Formats: sequence, structure tokens, C-alpha cells
Amino acid sequence: MAHGLVDVRILQREYLLAISRAVTAELDLQDVLRIILRAAVELVAGKAGMIALHHPELDSVRVAAVYGIPAQLVDHFAPLLHDIPQGDANEQEAELTRRLQLVARRSNLGFTQMVRLPMMSGGETIGLIYVFLSGTPYHLPKDAALLLSGFAEQAAIAVKNARLYEQVNKEKQRLDAIIQQNADGVMILDQSLRITVFNRALSRMVGLAPEEAIGKLHENVFTWLSLKSDMDLHEALANGWPLPGAAHLYVEGDLQRPFQEHLETADGKRVSLGITYAPLMDGDGRMTDIIANVRDLTRYREEEALQKTFISVVSHELKTPVSIIKGYAGTLRRQDANWSPEIIQDSLAVIEEEADNLTDLIDSLLEVSRLQAGTFNLEVSEDVQLNRVVENTARKFGNQSDKHTITVQFASEFPPIWGDERRLGQVLNNLLSNAIKYSPEGGEIVIRGEVHPQHVTVSVRDSGIGIPDHEQHRIFQKFSRLDNALSRKTEGTGLGLFLCKAIIEAHNGRIWFHKNPDGPGTTFTFSLPRN
Ligand code: ATP
Ligand code: MG
Repeated sequence: MAHGLVDVRILQREYLLAISRAVTAELDLQDVLRIILRAAVELVAGKAGMIALHHPELDSVRVAAVYGIPAQLVDHFAPLLHDIPQGDANEQEAELTRRLQLVARRSNLGFTQMVRLPMMSGGETIGLIYVFLSGTPYHLPKDAALLLSGFAEQAAIAVKNARLYEQVNKEKQRLDAIIQQNADGVMILDQSLRITVFNRALSRMVGLAPEEAIGKLHENVFTWLSLKSDMDLHEALANGWPLPGAAHLYVEGDLQRPFQEHLETADGKRVSLGITYAPLMDGDGRMTDIIANVRDLTRYREEEALQKTFISVVSHELKTPVSIIKGYAGTLRRQDANWSPEIIQDSLAVIEEEADNLTDLIDSLLEVSRLQAGTFNLEVSEDVQLNRVVENTARKFGNQSDKHTITVQFASEFPPIWGDERRLGQVLNNLLSNAIKYSPEGGEIVIRGEVHPQHVTVSVRDSGIGIPDHEQHRIFQKFSRLDNALSRKTEGTGLGLFLCKAIIEAHNGRIWFHKNPDGPGTTFTFSLPRN
């Protein structure tokens, strides 16, 4: 056997077996081509081989697999890829030989002969298999030629399958991405109500990683604490949903988040969801899957609750001063009573004070509605003298309470600040009113002003009932009042600190509090940038 050609028939079955195994094993296209190429090269005892594929979308032919050609020499084979001019067979043959000689010279691989097999699919050439031989020319035995064209056919099928598979896969990835990127929660259930798709938005809402949810039964993830709609999915299914011409099913309620290790806060354990289930039907009207769209309604519920709080707080806070004013006015107006001038004075003072309270409350409400409407604008001036604002506020409160002493300690040469003087006055007003309200036993209140290179700080320290640290962010929220004996006795809407924060932040400043390290009570501090 001059070319080391092995008995074709023995190998034949083995090669075909290996190739068909490779084609059906859903291997990577590259791997399949490599196996086919190697079989082709071995079959004719060639030295090397190459498969080039036509890429219609790029209008180019590219090398897809090589065997026995060092990577750095592959470029030298380019002349073989170019179209061969139409013409009679002998001319084409001569052209190919010329190109092979060129390639052999450049690559220095000593090839003397080339077998070139087109890969056909549906009458179209999708690629070429090249096998290179060296030594004296030899003629392919007939069955080897047949087998080779069988390989080419297999390779064509593999390429076609791989391209189809790639297309399907791309489409699937695109759909997956759409589902994953969806801002709403999306989930797909199979017929047995097992979760097969669970997107990221839903994972965040429910606090369960997609890989933990997938494979679980719907009922094991969606356990409702309370339902707002008539029935849940399982009851609806039991009642015959989906009927032909199927309508969507909407289920709304509060959910117990299934796995609480994922959650930082206790409120996070409950989430309000609205789920729309849509059945996917096959041609015979059988339901194959259910696709569910999930919305987090927690925010909406909170807003609703806030509205209710708003109405009850505001009506209470409005009613109290009005009824006090009415009471005193009515008493003073009584014809039959002969009030002493002191009583008249005291009563008028109470009326005035309550009228001021009403004005404050209305102002706060207006500020809140401006904040909500986005029409909250600062009326700034360049040179607010914070120490003066503080002294005025301190004087006003000093006159109102004899249980508290108010001390003002400001750095000398406190710089003028850019800001809205009236609103900074509101901030101090609330901090000081809180300091007094929430230290019922009285005590010292210290207001300090400090100057730093980039900013100034003002702090209000009381020795009152204190605030637990973990209330840090809650306390600055609208209508939030801590639930303690005092909050039930003292007046307040829980808007003060919310507005303080909004005002300070509108000045690019910050506000926070901490527990006094050396005694009872709290210190509230805000910082404002200089310039
Ligand atoms: P408003 O200021 O609207 O009249 P308020 O004083 O209750 O009402 P905020 O000033 O926003 O509302 O304060 C919110 C809650 O924070 C208060 O109800 C109180 O529970 C708590 N709080 C505020 N300041 C202090 C403080 N210095 N010491 C202890 N608790 C405080
Ligand atoms: Mg307050």
C-alpha cells in the first residue's frame, strides 16, 4: 500500500459510526467538523486537511476546521478559498493545481496532491473539504471516493443543523433576555403548576433566588396571608379556569415571603402583589403553561395607608386648636360672666398660641404638598446669619417653658451661610420644639454651632426620652411618630423632621441624630456647606 492506505472497508464502518455519533451528540459544530475532517484525512492517508464554510450573510468563505496544519500557516491557504473562474474542467483542474503549488511553496508543507470535496445541502454549496497529500500522486479507490462524499454530506448536515440550532438558540436567548430584563415580575408555570421561569424582578420582589424558585410548586412559593381578590389560582383552577376563550385571572393580596433569610427588615416579610395569570393553550385547547405577570403593590399599599394616616392626623391636629379656640372664645363671650382682666389676658394668650399652632400646621402641610408637587423652591440669600436665627428661636422657646434652660454656644466669627433664612428657621423651630416636647422632665437644651473648613454644623442636644438608633431613617419619614407614651400625649403630626430633612437636603446639607454618649437624650445635628 504505497500511501499507507488502510483497508477502506474495515475503517468505513468505524468512521461512519464516529461521525454519526458526533453529529447526533449535539456537539459543538467545530468538534463535529474536526472529527469529520480527521476521518477524511485518515481515510486517504493524507497529511492534512481543512474545512472551509461559506457564510452567505457575510458573503465570504472562512476556514472552520483544520487538521495537520499549524495555526500560523493557515493564512497561506487563502488562495484555495477564492472562487475558481468558470470554465472547462481541465482549466479548472489546472488552476487548482497552480494554487496548490503556491500554497505548498508558501507553507513549506510539501503537499503534492489535493482532494477537494464540495459540501452540498439542498443544491447549494455550503462549504468544501480539502485533504492534502504528499509523495507520488495516487488515485482514490472508488469506494474511498464514495465514502469521502458521504463524509461531505454528513458535514453539510452537521453545519445545517448547527446553524439552525444556533438560530433557535439565539431566539431563545433573546426571549429569555426579554423575560429577565422585564421590570415586572414574570413567571411561567407548567401544567403541574411547577415554576419553570422566574425572572429577576420577581426574585427581588419575593426575596427568593430564581434557582431556588424554579422547580418548586406554585403553592409552595405563593402562600397568601390575605387575599383581596375572590380567589387564588388554585381555587380558580378548581372552578374551571381557564374557560374556552380564556380570560386572564387576576389575583391580589399580601404574600408571606417564602424565605426570610434574604431579608434585612421585619416589614420585608410581607409583600403586596398583584398577579395576572394567562393560560397558554395548544391547538387542541389544552393548557400547556401559565404565564404570570407580577406587580409589587407594596408601595401603593403604603401610600394608601399614608393617605389614611394623613387624614386622621390632620383632622385631629386641626380639630384640637380649633376646639380650644372655640372653647376660650365662647367662655369669654358669656354675657353673664364678669372676667377679671388677667383671665381675659390669659385666655387671649391661649387663643393666640393655638392660632399660631394652626398656622404652623397649615404651613407644614403646604410645604409637604409643595414637596410632593415638586414646586418646593428655596428663597435663598447669600448671607444668612445662622447664629442670629438660632438666638431668635431660642428666645421664643425660652419664653414658653420654664422647665428647660436653653443655651446657645456658637463659634465666634460664625460665617454667613447661603440659604433660605425662613426655612432654616423652621428647621430650628422643629428641632427645638422636639427637644422640649420630648424632654418632659425639663433639663438643659444646648444648641451648638461649629465651623469646619468646608461646612458648618448646628446641633440641638436635649436630655429627654431619647430615640432608639434603629429608628434613624423612620423618624425622618412623613407622619412617623414613635409609638411611646409621650407621642400619645403630645401634639404633633410627624411632619416636622420630614420637612427638616427636605429643607436641609435642598441646601445640599445632611441631618442626623445620635444618642447622647454621656447621659440621657438625643442630639440632632445638621450640616450645611459653606459657600
Ligand atoms: P410635628 O413636628 O409635626 O409637630 P412631631 O414632633 O411628632 O410632630 P417630628 O418632629 O417629625 O414630629 O418627630 C417625629 C417623631 O420623632 C416624634 O413624634 C418623636 O416620637 C420623635 N422625636 C423627634 N425628636 C425627638 C427628640 N428630640 N427626642 C425624642 N424623640 C424625638
Ligand atoms: Mg416636631
